[in-house]
Amino acid sequence: MPAKILDGKLLAATMRADIAKQVAELKAAKGITPGLGVILIGADPASTSYVTAKEKACEEAGMYSEDVRVPAETTQAEALALVQKMNADPRIHGILVQLPLPKHIDEAAVINAIAPEKDVDGFTPINVGRMMIGETCFLPCTPNGVIQMLLSAGVETSGKHAVVIGRSNIVGKPVAHLLMRKAKGGNATVTVCHTGTKDLATFTKQADILVVAAGRPNTVTGEMIKPGAVVIDVGVNRVPDATKKNGFRLVGDVDFDSAAQVASLITPVPGGVGPMTITMLLYNTLESAQRLSAKG
Ligand code: NAP
Repeated sequence: MPAKILDGKLLAATMRADIAKQVAELKAAKGITPGLGVILIGADPASTSYVTAKEKACEEAGMYSEDVRVPAETTQAEALALVQKMNADPRIHGILVQLPLPKHIDEAAVINAIAPEKDVDGFTPINVGRMMIGETCFLPCTPNGVIQMLLSAGVETSGKHAVVIGRSNIVGKPVAHLLMRKAKGGNATVTVCHTGTKDLATFTKQADILVVAAGRPNTVTGEMIKPGAVVIDVGVNRVPDATKKNGFRLVGDVDFDSAAQVASLITPVPGGVGPMTITMLLYNTLESAQRLSAKG
């Protein structure tokens, strides 16, 4: 029996409508418009299209958005100055530095310069540390988007075996942490796989919930999945396709057709986790503005 589709686009639209309502309420009650500052260094086409999508989503939610696009030759000192300017700007409640940065810029130094109270991507060491010990923080957007999808679909995570493929700081590690933590959408027993894992299928076949964030098409195929499992495909890969106007199409890390024959629930690519990432960014920016308004 083919799997049901876990539609990230639909959930994202529902959540964004609720965020827009809360933005309007905050404006009316306190005169505060949540603001997102975005810094894009260079003109990488994928990064440019992500940033444009984020700005559009901000505007649709009624938020203020400030977009700083500078050339790839920007120096590290200039990049740090851009972050510091946004740190000091009261109209900006969340700062996003689009990654990757050009090679001559120390990515960690730029991320670490973001004020933790404006770190809506949840990438600074302070935010990561707070998440690990269960303090108030901004949850990283893609991992939290995965958890929100599971919750929305009524997937029970508690007591289940969740297998995560990937251990990056942006996806694999934080999603494993959120699935493990003692909270709603967590309390699972978690196994993390990576390129050092021998016989990946041994682990994936044990997964009640399989989260794949490897960055490689066909990392998981149908025969590697336990019948009835929930499969979340985080991967976004561009594969050449001469039939497309731009010469490529997007695929995930999971072979969708074979996996959908075995899983009970599966996310598509595109239209799965991707729209949720931007939604959680809006959510964190709203939360940042709400926290500020609660302070007085
Ligand atoms: P990354 O930094 O390249 O990390 C990939 C991880 O997968 C690494 O830990 C790597 O292991 C592991 N891995 C790669 N191939 C594997 C294999 N064959 N078997 C087992 N483990 C394997 O990538 P990322 O930033 O986490 O992103 C992962 C994917 O998600 C990418 O396709 C990216 O585009 C996508 N993504 C999507 C969104 C979204 O909004 N939908 C957001 C972020 C990322 P090692 O550590 O051993 O190298």
